[in-house]
Amino acid sequence: MDYKTFYNFMLKLTLAFEKSKCRREFISGLETAFSKVLQVECIKIYTLDEFSYTIKDFEKPWESISDNQEHCKLQEVLNSFVGSKDCAKLDENIIYIPIFDDTKIIGLLKIILDKKIKPENDFFEIAQLVQKQISYAVLNFKSGEKMKLNTKFYQTIRNIAKIIETQYELSYILPILGEMIDSFIYEHLIYIFIKNKNKKEFKLVWPANIKDVKIYEYLENLTPKSGVILEREGKIGIFPLLSEQKLLGAVVAYNPFDKLNENEINYLDEISKQASITIERAGEYMKILKDATLDALTGLNNRHQFALRLREETASAKRQNTPLCCIMTDIDFFKKVNDTYGHAVGDCVLKNVARTIKKELRENDIPSRYGGEEFAILLPHTTLDEAQLVAQRLRAAIEKKKINIEEYGIEDIKQLNVTISVGVSLYDKKMKEPQQLYQNADKALYQAKESGRNKVVVFCE
Ligand code: GH3
Ligand code: MG
Ligand code: MG
Repeated sequence: MDYKTFYNFMLKLTLAFEKSKCRREFISGLETAFSKVLQVECIKIYTLDEFSYTIKDFEKPWESISDNQEHCKLQEVLNSFVGSKDCAKLDENIIYIPIFDDTKIIGLLKIILDKKIKPENDFFEIAQLVQKQISYAVLNFKSGEKMKLNTKFYQTIRNIAKIIETQYELSYILPILGEMIDSFIYEHLIYIFIKNKNKKEFKLVWPANIKDVKIYEYLENLTPKSGVILEREGKIGIFPLLSEQKLLGAVVAYNPFDKLNENEINYLDEISKQASITIERAGEYMKILKDATLDALTGLNNRHQFALRLREETASAKRQNTPLCCIMTDIDFFKKVNDTYGHAVGDCVLKNVARTIKKELRENDIPSRYGGEEFAILLPHTTLDEAQLVAQRLRAAIEKKKINIEEYGIEDIKQLNVTISVGVSLYDKKMKEPQQLYQNADKALYQAKESGRNKVVVFCE
């Protein structure tokens, strides 16, 4: 092998070690490097799983190797390197290079060659030279990922604990919880169940549907004292949500292909405990807030207060024969804000939108936080034309508002913009229920969303 070929090989190998952002990229980098000295068809890496002692494909560690023969072959090759000084082995058109952690063999690099061309003899000298570096790179990659996962785990725990600062209704909390857990545990399907208070059955609350109905059978075995239940060869993990020894529900993790490993079980156990605390505190908040009138995050009226004011204002409009309007707003693509920048930034956006709404309204207007990112505003003594102008003014003010998120330390992003969609409706004395006023505004809001968002739509029959 000439010097230039060798130099090129080493250069590409170094690039693969230093520049790869994911396992696939790392393997592609190795393929590029080895192509300089061999006729490579493809490269695979296999590592020994520390928990199950089975051999895993480095690119898809959550799947078992489905081909049994292949698994046996790999096991055989791996064993043949134990206690041997060989640093590579040629088997027909395949070269195996062992991967070591110190003196322990922990995996294999498998280079599949084009059948017709044999490697040059001096390749095995090169293999000896690079084998240690490859082992080191694989280990580095794994520990780097582990560190990232750990950081993400603590972030998830912190975020779950923080949800409660802004929301206390379970219908909002549970989907947020589901999304957070799901974004952390990506190799499994995650489900959240809540137990009906009086009945024994569990109700799926996140996501919308379930693929494997068998999970319901396993849930029946869950009791306040049962702890974590592992079922079906360890592929299904059931983690109880408990509050003061009472069973509230369960987080279920399901890996259709493989066993949950010890690490994942520990992570999910901790996450479920934090989720239990969050749900329990939400219950306490709800009790306290029964008498409260303001929403804790935005300082606007809460939903309960909105319902009261709606009743009062519709009654008064009817009695005095004065116009009354309702505006409903919903932030556009708000989920994306949460997903991209995290819930803390989402909350900051909510506060800012609420503040802007309040600033744009008159003294007598009544803004409320209707739910998550929806605001409802009652406008007494206001005609539909006037209300439409107010709605336009709100929409424009929010579109223009630059929300400062510097304190959250997100790279390159100091400010954020959001838009709202708005629906407007007018009270009619003939309405049977006061609720119809905001239901009409909500219908108009829906049309604003459907027709492109960042718009005002006035309800008409
Ligand atoms: P669009 O309304 O334009 O159709 O899209 P969207 O993404 O805003 O739609 P959706 O109503 O599905 O999403 C609302 C999200 O608001 C879902 C929920 O996670 C989030 N959310 C609700 N309450 C809060 C809260 O108090 N804080 C934060 N950060 N997020 C919340
Ligand atoms: Mg919404
Ligand atoms: Mg929205």
